[in-house]
Amino acid sequence: ALNFYAGPAALPLPVLKEAEKNWLNYNGSGMAVMELSHRSKEYDAIHQKAQDLLRSVLSIPDSYEVLFLQGGASLQFSMVPMNLLTSGKAGNYVLTGVWSEKALQEAEKVGQVCVAASSKEENYRHIPKINEIKLSEDAAYLHITSNNTIYGTQWDHYPTNEAVPLIVDMSSDIMSKRLNIENFDLIYAGAQKNLGPSGVTIAIINKKLLSHSNPSLPTMLNYNTFAKHDSLYNTPPTLAIYLLKLVLEWAEQEGGLSVIEKRNEEKAKILYNCIDESEGFYKGHAEIDSRSKMNVTFTLKDEETSKQFLQQAKEAGFIGLGGHRSVGGCRASIYNAVPVEHVEQLAEFMKTFQYKY
Ligand code: PLP
Repeated sequence: ALNFYAGPAALPLPVLKEAEKNWLNYNGSGMAVMELSHRSKEYDAIHQKAQDLLRSVLSIPDSYEVLFLQGGASLQFSMVPMNLLTSGKAGNYVLTGVWSEKALQEAEKVGQVCVAASSKEENYRHIPKINEIKLSEDAAYLHITSNNTIYGTQWDHYPTNEAVPLIVDMSSDIMSKRLNIENFDLIYAGAQKNLGPSGVTIAIINKKLLSHSNPSLPTMLNYNTFAKHDSLYNTPPTLAIYLLKLVLEWAEQEGGLSVIEKRNEEKAKILYNCIDESEGFYKGHAEIDSRSKMNVTFTLKDEETSKQFLQQAKEAGFIGLGGHRSVGGCRASIYNAVPVEHVEQLAEFMKTFQYKY
């Protein structure tokens, strides 16, 4: 399918084929992956390999823990302040869309918060400039959303401040480009865009932060529980972790993050060129210097034309192009698994549609 959904999103075809091959009989065990005990040696090999691959593909140093959590990125909106918002300090948030608003709202239930910068007034069309971020004096951490799935904006450069930990919701652009992990103190992401199916949530946390956690937290909400037990304190989402392993193997075989990054740039360029060359027929929602390479958001001249575009796109086999209700119009999500050829076909379709109308 020409799948442009924002998430859960397309998975690489070789991953699905490999999963299908092993579906009923994993590695000659006579069992499906989802039937393996999470304490078995077969599952343990999957679990360790997924962790090792995540470390190697994302170049994660040993000073960071890699955790497999559940509850989606949404549970991280609560776990972050529960673990890291020490009393007398304030969680600082940059608002760049609905997901960062939700992160702020959950933190407010736990302790003190402060909005360090926001582009809400401009309907989140851009990412605030780094020098517009005003940290409170008592900042416990700074939280940002690296890619705003709904609005189609993305941070290009990240804030740096040695004294204040940087926490990033990377749900919709993790593994899309090279990163220096040491610029961040905690990265979290639901897997269902670039990493695999929904069900597993990744956290990459600087070991130094683990000592901040309050020991009286509920066991399952404490990062230390997952760190101490190698993310096997309770039953992990074994099937999702197996598929994560396959996606990471695929990423490695493709040539790693430098190849994936280049391909993502190429795909985004095809669609943004199509928008920019349309002489206003297609209008990008995001300001040019804040454009996302993962979610391309655009509107057409009026509601009726947008509706016709979406209807005809659907008939031509393009799936998931409807924009989120807060932006309207259209959104093409072009995560890692979307091939360049699908993006080229979409650009062709857009040009033909424009010509007709
Ligand atoms: N953060 C971002 C940037 C997202 O795009 C999403 C979902 O699309 C979420 C958080 C929420 O993730 P989950 O559904 O895993 O809780």
